[in-house]
Amino acid sequence: MLRRMTSTKKTDTSAQEEVAVMKPREKRVFALENFELKETLGTGTFGRVRLTNCNIDNKHYALKMLKKVDILRLKQVDHIKSEVRILSMIEHPFIVNMAGHFQNDQALFMVIEYVQGGELYSHLRREVRFSDDKSKYYAAEIVLAFSYLHGLKVIYRDLKPENLLITASGHVKITDFGFAKIVEDRTWTLCGTPEYLAPEIIQSKGHGKSVDWWALGVLIYEMLAGYPPFYDESPFGIYQKILAGRVEYPRHIDPKAKDCIKKLLAQDRTKRLGCIKGGAVSVKNHKWFAKLDWNAAFSCTIPPPFKPEIAGDSDTTHFDDYPDSEETVNPEISDHDKAQFDEFDAF
Ligand code: AMP
Repeated sequence: MLRRMTSTKKTDTSAQEEVAVMKPREKRVFALENFELKETLGTGTFGRVRLTNCNIDNKHYALKMLKKVDILRLKQVDHIKSEVRILSMIEHPFIVNMAGHFQNDQALFMVIEYVQGGELYSHLRREVRFSDDKSKYYAAEIVLAFSYLHGLKVIYRDLKPENLLITASGHVKITDFGFAKIVEDRTWTLCGTPEYLAPEIIQSKGHGKSVDWWALGVLIYEMLAGYPPFYDESPFGIYQKILAGRVEYPRHIDPKAKDCIKKLLAQDRTKRLGCIKGGAVSVKNHKWFAKLDWNAAFSCTIPPPFKPEIAGDSDTTHFDDYPDSEETVNPEISDHDKAQFDEFDAF
């Protein structure tokens, strides 16, 4: 199964955003001249992510480069603003840490810690499926990250193995906050990846944190089964299956894991694990996690199920090879369009 692209449609008409609960961190000043560009680590809709060496602190960073013409063409300025703004204000052991950001006339640049172990997606496809313990380990780290994000009124909206990176010490880091959003109550943008969309997104009912808990159910199933619970050749077929809500569970899936997935995949979001009384605590208290010490999980003191082999700071063996980028000259953008990016400097 090929890496799945995230998609978005419609204009966002969400409720008022609130940022008061977030604390800005120390800001670092970077410019493109500070970075020696190395291998491409991955590609996204608006550009690529390159491994770089920074001459300020002599550290390796993943530099995410987003072309302004493409952001404008696809009307994604607001989504990218959310991504930069949220990443510049959050810090969590299981979320990529952004050291800073900057821009020039052509592009926006995000300076992100380099997570060397590659995508969980590559490990999962190679191993086909993960054991119950391994799946639970990664799921627990995501529960902690979602609990933190939701506490800040941030919904993530793009959980999938392609957006989870494995650190050198074997922990998960959530990356790609392109669809993350600060939401007081509900939002209406149809965005995400078909296999991971909650019914309420497909039905345009307005959605909130509940979509992340649904996606966690899809992810746990995919880690344990090796394929997602709702699958079809076309997105339309996938949506039909999601709305029909029938899931077949392979027999090797532990009954407690199955119960947890079933409760996360509740069609009615008011009955969904994570959305019922207690919120994230209702997930933590599920019997599948009964033996898990959540404090130890948060402080990364539970030995990880697997540690990627890493040869040095600039090792990229866990990432696919990408052809060298052709540095095309971008068309000029108008002063009006340029002004849309002014706000980024304030984040
Ligand atoms: P994104 O556009 O953020 O989804 O990034 C595209 C791809 O680049 C990801 O799927 C990863 O393979 C890679 N990537 C993104 N951020 C990092 C990072 N901090 N460290 C290593 N690889 C990354």
